Amino acid sequence: MQQTFENFKLNKQLLNAIEEAGYSVPTEIQQKAITPILAGQDIMGVAQTGTGKTAAFVLPILMKLKYAQGQDARALILSPTRELAMQIEENIQTFSKYLDLRTVVLYGGLGPKTQIENLEKGVDIIVATPGRFLDLYLEGHINVKSLKFLVMDEADKMMDMGFISKLHRILEVVPRKRQNLLFSATMGELVRKIAGDFLAFPTVIEVSEQATPASTVSQRVYFVPNQKTKLNLLQHLLKDDESFHRLIVFCKTRTVADNVFAFLERKYGKDQVRVIHANKGQNTRINSINAFKEGNIRILVATDVAARGLDVSNVSHVINFEVPIVTEDYVHRIGRTGRAFNSGDAITFCNDAEKYYFRKIEKLMRQSVDVAPLPDEVFIEETPYFERQAIAKEIDIQKRKEDPDFKGAFHEKKFAIKQKEAKASQRASGFKSNKQGPKTSTKRNYRTK
Ligand code: AMP
Repeated sequence: MQQTFENFKLNKQLLNAIEEAGYSVPTEIQQKAITPILAGQDIMGVAQTGTGKTAAFVLPILMKLKYAQGQDARALILSPTRELAMQIEENIQTFSKYLDLRTVVLYGGLGPKTQIENLEKGVDIIVATPGRFLDLYLEGHINVKSLKFLVMDEADKMMDMGFISKLHRILEVVPRKRQNLLFSATMGELVRKIAGDFLAFPTVIEVSEQATPASTVSQRVYFVPNQKTKLNLLQHLLKDDESFHRLIVFCKTRTVADNVFAFLERKYGKDQVRVIHANKGQNTRINSINAFKEGNIRILVATDVAARGLDVSNVSHVINFEVPIVTEDYVHRIGRTGRAFNSGDAITFCNDAEKYYFRKIEKLMRQSVDVAPLPDEVFIEETPYFERQAIAKEIDIQKRKEDPDFKGAFHEKKFAIKQKEAKASQRASGFKSNKQGPKTSTKRNYRTK
């Protein structure tokens, strides 16, 4: 196995840039992928974000392209999101510092004028989201005849986001003779299918098992009865500002993200916290991400979609304020910490309804996560009526999924009658108060393992 970057047949310009970037030892995927890519092989890389996969494909491509040539792109790198596209471009800039290569990034959400102008100046590498790439191609702004390299990064996410037909369309128009690289954190059915259509006898490189988080991340879960107690726990953990110095708090929905953000903003002030989700404008998102990257803010509250491709080193903690429904999202979330050679902590807050998803996640990861008892200092709130109903209903649905004969401990009829009452309670309560509804004995199991 290669131990240093010098062992690869990379040129001096690249080695200097690598050294300046502070990389001394190639990561596992870099050790396994760089040589076969330099040798011209197609690659299927099963690797999640945080393993160093970007440099694993960027370095050999830069090595092969060497210097600016002609008008049209010779490499096309496709990414599911603009954040990831920007991240890839940043990597290219870092490593091509001493090479004379032109890169253009194409993504939607803003007007194409500047992107078109950049293409017209001549380009060696295009990094693009599939939609914007196709639009500009169909309008005649991109000539694909010179393409020699095609990369699909985070192919699983591209499938999840419904890009399959766009990808097929792109595959139809690019030249047949080219080198193909596909990277994906997981190998679901659709990824396998596109890999079959796209790669010719690929070398398969796996650096971690399917849906396995990086081993540099330590994980723990707290069982917490309700949202309000989750906020108490969050506040308790954040008291340790030395160790919790840079964290991302993940939520499933925008509403919860906004609520958690409002709570944290009240506690810690505007300059410590930002929130990113799909409802925030592109510029706001980029500004928040940059402020977080530069270490100007301590806490970033995010939803899964907004955080795709977000590359921030040295995140001390990832907190899953809510358990994601999809295992891949869990793996991606916690991949934000413990990147490359840093270690990180992933902490999950899990209510009774979320246990079902958490167990599924553990099963898929083939790992069980340590349960931490709620610290004594964390006040356990009563679960408000509407939240208790929602949790009970969700658990019923889960039980029915597992056992279609299950009659349900929670009755639909009763729910309909109480719904009005619940809605009123919800409106009045939000995260602020929990005085409504009968008291429950939620305090029982949460303090013990
Ligand atoms: P990626 O998986 O490509 O998103 O990379 C994750 C993080 O690891 C990024 O912050 C990279 O800058 C960093 N990284 C990648 N390769 C190395 C390396 N060989 N040594 C140190 N850091 C690295």
